[in-house]
Amino acid sequence: MATKKRDYYEVLGVGRSTSEEEIKRAYRKLAVKFHPDKNPDDPHAEEKFKELGEAYDVLMDADKRAAYDRFGHAAFEQGGRFRGGFHDPFDIFREVFGGGAGIGGGIFETFFGGIAGHAEDRQRGADLRYDMQITLEEAAFGAEKEIEVRKQDICDKCGGTGAEPGSRSITCPVCGGRGQVISSRGFFQVSQTCPRCGGVGHIVEKPCRGCGGEGRLEKPSRIKLKVPAGIADGSRLRSSRNGEAGIRGGPHGDLYVVVHVQEHKIFQREEDNLYCEVPIPFSVATLGGEVPVPTLEGKANLKVPAGTQSGQMFKLRGKGIIHVNGRERGDLLVRVMVEVPTRLNAEQRAKLQEFAELCGEENTPLGKSFFERAKEFFR
Ligand SMILES: [Zn+2]
Ligand SMILES: [Zn+2]
Repeated sequence: MATKKRDYYEVLGVGRSTSEEEIKRAYRKLAVKFHPDKNPDDPHAEEKFKELGEAYDVLMDADKRAAYDRFGHAAFEQGGRFRGGFHDPFDIFREVFGGGAGIGGGIFETFFGGIAGHAEDRQRGADLRYDMQITLEEAAFGAEKEIEVRKQDICDKCGGTGAEPGSRSITCPVCGGRGQVISSRGFFQVSQTCPRCGGVGHIVEKPCRGCGGEGRLEKPSRIKLKVPAGIADGSRLRSSRNGEAGIRGGPHGDLYVVVHVQEHKIFQREEDNLYCEVPIPFSVATLGGEVPVPTLEGKANLKVPAGTQSGQMFKLRGKGIIHVNGRERGDLLVRVMVEVPTRLNAEQRAKLQEFAELCGEENTPLGKSFFERAKEFFR
């Protein structure tokens, strides 16, 4: 949070009056250069890539750009107009580089030296969704979780290439490397995708016996996840490249983890605030005193003033949940429920009756005002 954000125009290397067309061009060039799939050994690449996505997101949107020009990064921080409103950098990338073409599935591959006109040999793995249950405490304070997902993963035997060790890639004998086969139907000649190589133009001499040549197979895999403190029920975490492995060494898909916060036996949550109901004795409500109340961190004492009514709400400031990616904490709101004594013995009953006889109108403020308002209904 403390790191100073770079100027969006500087990130894209463009001037402040640059047209959208030029911004797009600058983004395309830099996003390809810093894409994490292309820089697996550079831990800063993903950061740079995300920064580019954010800059592009803002400067390509007339409203956001105008706000940024006026207020700078403050426009997107807490309290700003667009607080928290950036698109996923990988989604932006896919959108800019054309439709659903995933990485390795088309345009992108030609940037990295693929051969246009052929079907792609390597294919990107599918994205996966995983539903994860967490406790309210984990949502409040953050957690490190490990989940097990059964998915298509890289075949250990061939390392994802799909070829038996020592086997090479050879030109497809059916289509001669063209990827298309031509058949005659009467006067017509029809060109079709080669059934042997699937249009790729080459095949592996001996397909890997572990995976049948796909370079991947289904197996369980353990994935570590960092759950940020303050996460809301229904949030989606993106675990980059932890989806299914691609075909024959193609890039991995992503794993999307949908977080479900379990119901808590004491607290209810509403955004960053917590609510709970605490029973208090009739005598404490009347005379005032201290009652123990639960908080996420343990016991706290609540001072109850004399004459507290049932249902009254007390606020414990800062005892709620921290705002996700922020510093402020919500409050804990305690609703006290005055407990009516039960199973009285003879002595208790006699004393209470005596007490009741001593009570007058001034002891029942709620009843007094209620019956005044409801007068006409008692005629
Ligand atoms: Zn072929
Ligand atoms: Zn294999």
